Amino acid sequence: MKIGVLALQGAFVEHQKMLQLCGVESIQVRKREQLKGISALVIPGGESTTMGKLLTGYDLLEPLVRLGREGLPIFGTCAGLIVLARDISGPVQPKLGLMDIAVKRNAFGRQVDSFEEDLAIPAIGEKPFRAVFIRAPYIIKTGNGVEVLTRYNGRVVFARQGRFLAAAFHPELTGDLRVHRYFLDQCLP
Ligand code: GLN
Repeated sequence: MKIGVLALQGAFVEHQKMLQLCGVESIQVRKREQLKGISALVIPGGESTTMGKLLTGYDLLEPLVRLGREGLPIFGTCAGLIVLARDISGPVQPKLGLMDIAVKRNAFGRQVDSFEEDLAIPAIGEKPFRAVFIRAPYIIKTGNGVEVLTRYNGRVVFARQGRFLAAAFHPELTGDLRVHRYFLDQCLP
């Protein structure tokens, strides 16, 4: 099994390290051909508008939408969550639009640009998860098939829809492998 990590921009190396610690092989995806043979894809944090433009420019947007619809498991963190969302509030930007969620970018406001918080995520175990938020979005609306996995201050920040998983925070920046393990164990067939 090989997991693709979208490596156009952002924190892709950190995700690869986490996947390695989970005992799975990963490859950096920058070209269409590299999508062949991957069992799942991780979309890292970064800047969603830039990532969207690069996805279009590198001819990856359309093949990824197709693969996602065909069942490729995809895990998006922060900007990756935004790219996965069906609706992004504000100006139009390129997106995969695969997950039935509406999101608001930079939603926690300037004064709290970045922060850390212990979140209860029952799906990954009893121990709270230290979540790192960096100019994070949150989910303002979830469709019927979407399971809310945790909230922060009442806002949905971690959700799953079948093989799609989306976190507003950065699980690749903590030493805690449980969110990555959850993706590998629960979202892959
Ligand atoms: N604010 C960024 C965006 O809107 C996301 C930030 C991040 O990925 N850490 O794309």
